[in-house]
Amino acid sequence: MEYKLIRSKRKSLTISITNGEITVKAPLKTPLSHIEAFIGEKSNWIERKIAEQKRKTDLLSNVIAGECVLYHGAFLKAVGSADHKRIKIDGEYIFIPEKYKDRTAADKALTAFLKRLAENELNILLADVSARTGLGYASFALTNARTKWGSCDGKCNIRLNWRLIMLDAELVEYVLIHELAHTVYHDHSKSFWAEVAKFMPRYNTAKKRLKTYSVLTSMYR
Ligand SMILES: [Zn+2]
Repeated sequence: MEYKLIRSKRKSLTISITNGEITVKAPLKTPLSHIEAFIGEKSNWIERKIAEQKRKTDLLSNVIAGECVLYHGAFLKAVGSADHKRIKIDGEYIFIPEKYKDRTAADKALTAFLKRLAENELNILLADVSARTGLGYASFALTNARTKWGSCDGKCNIRLNWRLIMLDAELVEYVLIHELAHTVYHDHSKSFWAEVAKFMPRYNTAKKRLKTYSVLTSMYR
């Protein structure tokens, strides 16, 4: 198994996988034989993790290719339909009327459709999370930001990327709590992350997972 070894002043061995590549972090003096044995022990986990990541990229590549539409974390199969006048979600399918002949037209219609749903849904969700956490905000608006999922300015106006409607509930919750926590701390200081953790102790999992979906912010433009 090929891997990248990073030695540093640390106490334990860890393995991480990013884009199918294995990185091992090891203390300065751990013998190579020990590291190799550790990797051997973890080989099942490593293979499973690599397969899992590949599946994710493959699935997103279906979204990129326009074969699927991501909605609430589910991959809906896009079906061109002569029977539908408007876009319609039905179970695991999303029907796209045939009048939207090419990809550009279909994406434009999809954007309008999803934005409408997002506006309504995120408005309600943000109010709900705000009430639950006691973190107030001044206003809410949708954005079409190129890289960000959300933002909160100095006056506590919250902006949310309409593409959040594509993500599963845990990721949306994380983004909402993140932006609401900015109404208290306008930075990414330790205090800020402690505020996030108050309402989502395992926020780190969501924070990392959110990165998988960053390609979506450059789509539907
Ligand atoms: Zn932030």
